[in-house]
Amino acid sequence: MEIKAIRGMNDILPDEMPRWRLLEETTREVFARYGFSEVRPPVLERTELFFRGIGDETDVVEKQMYTFTDKSGTSVTLRPEATACVLRAVIEHGLLNKDPIQKLYTLGPMFRYERPQKGRYRQFHQINAERLGEESPLADAETLAMAYDLAGTLLGRDSLSMEVNSLGCKECRPGFKDALRSFLVSRQERLCEDCRRRMNTNPLRVLDCKVISCKDAVQGAPVLETFLCAGCSTYHEAVLASLEALGVSYSKNPLLVRGLDYYTRTTFEITASGLGSQNAVSGGGRYDDLLSILGGPNVGGIGFAFGMERLILLMEERQHPVKGCFVVAQAFPEVETKALSLISELRSAHIRAEAAFGKSFKAQMRRADKAKYPLCIILGEDEIQRNTLTVKDMATAEQYTVERAVAVHELKALLAGKE
Ligand code: AMP
Repeated sequence: MEIKAIRGMNDILPDEMPRWRLLEETTREVFARYGFSEVRPPVLERTELFFRGIGDETDVVEKQMYTFTDKSGTSVTLRPEATACVLRAVIEHGLLNKDPIQKLYTLGPMFRYERPQKGRYRQFHQINAERLGEESPLADAETLAMAYDLAGTLLGRDSLSMEVNSLGCKECRPGFKDALRSFLVSRQERLCEDCRRRMNTNPLRVLDCKVISCKDAVQGAPVLETFLCAGCSTYHEAVLASLEALGVSYSKNPLLVRGLDYYTRTTFEITASGLGSQNAVSGGGRYDDLLSILGGPNVGGIGFAFGMERLILLMEERQHPVKGCFVVAQAFPEVETKALSLISELRSAHIRAEAAFGKSFKAQMRRADKAKYPLCIILGEDEIQRNTLTVKDMATAEQYTVERAVAVHELKALLAGKE
């Protein structure tokens, strides 16, 4: 029997890689402008980290984790998200003692046992950013602006919309939870089984339930904004004013709670047109208690995650002509040897070069065309005798003769003109 990949886990094939590379490079470039550094925690962590770090009543922890016992009897989990992992690393290595402000990002695979569909997979990749140690609405606004900047650079601002909300704090959330609970009790017959339980233990989760009848039932629910304490209210206004100062367009969504338990105050989500129902490309928010919940210092932070597959689906299929030369050689031993040394010389000069040996002249030309090299170098017995090369511009089909002695120099100049 043929062995296939596990459902919801995808191979990323060579023809998709240029877009992934572009996505990764753009992320690194944009985040570096904001002073962020990369960190790479492992994909496997102790299960306890996610119970404590995400909240044991979230869908992620209740239903979606890949958890198993390793050979030492320890319960381990393939990470379903990166924030808890990055914070664990920050605490374990005392990074905040070395520098009380940490701005970190990580890229990599996450695992959630979800129902696979377009834009929703069981192994998917996230770009994750965390900013720790600045308790200021300006830091929140700048973090949201960084997410918006990356999304705008990749997808264009016109296709984006950013929704913002405040989830309040330990002081004001309990009052809201009580009001929400009373509201939900009056509609409990319309709630799913999970929500009937969560309504008592963690009513905010009901606002995030994906079941249609639950979505209907929460229409008209009390909104957190009216329960915010003076501190949270002032803070939220300052975040919104700073977003305006930074030129970020946003709308307020009082029902936005996000799927993880640890958020306090600012939360946000970026959606993009063109993805159908799975249209959220990024989400995140502030978490003032998470570091201390995980055993670290009493320092707040704010972060977000982008779903990379969703960005890839949306990024225009940009054709990346490879910068380099394809060498087509007539099938004579002397010509092929000269072709080999030319290729090696080109590579030493940092020019990408490739050939296809053992193929007919026509088949080599076809390959040069398919591989999208802008220049093709033709080497035959005539060229060898005259110590020249024939260079074909693949876009215009023009051919030039170039002296072999200055070929590398000339090819570099020709390729520079192809930028
Ligand atoms: P979350 O970690 O749930 O806050 O999600 C952050 C972002 O990750 C979402 O906005 C999606 O773009 C992406 N994402 C979450 N779950 C999945 C999934 N199962 N498959 C693909 N992308 C996902």
